[in-house]
Amino acid sequence: MRRLLVGPRATRAWLPLLAAAALLPARAGGAGSLAATVPQLCGRCLAGFDLTVSPSIEARFVPSPTGRGDEQELGADDLETDVYDQGTLDLSALLETETSLALPMKPLCREECRGLCPICGENRNTTACACQERAPELRWEPLKAWAARQSR
Ligand SMILES: [Zn+2]
Ligand SMILES: [Zn+2]
Repeated sequence: MRRLLVGPRATRAWLPLLAAAALLPARAGGAGSLAATVPQLCGRCLAGFDLTVSPSIEARFVPSPTGRGDEQELGADDLETDVYDQGTLDLSALLETETSLALPMKPLCREECRGLCPICGENRNTTACACQERAPELRWEPLKAWAARQSR
């Protein structure tokens, strides 16, 4: 599981919602944004780096049926609604889900990351390996030879 660090901005953004939930035994909802810093591995050079994402969130909460002392079915309208117990909103699951959704499929340490050398495996951001000085066509020669063999 990913380690999730929720920044102080998130706490501030959700304070009004927490207050509303504590005061009202009814629905609570809110919109906010959070800033989370998550350790990532670069999809090109495999270096570890911290990525900060700031997804905006809209959420609704209803008290759990047992908490209200009666059995009330959740309507279709409530499918995307989270349930809370005894005046306490558990925001950690919501924040983790929203943060995961905001993370890129292929994280990059930086946009211009040069990645790993496909020949020697060196990190081309930090090492200028000799492979770069070869003519680019050379690395395709084995493939061309293989393709020529296949077509015979
Ligand atoms: Zn990278
Ligand atoms: Zn190389």
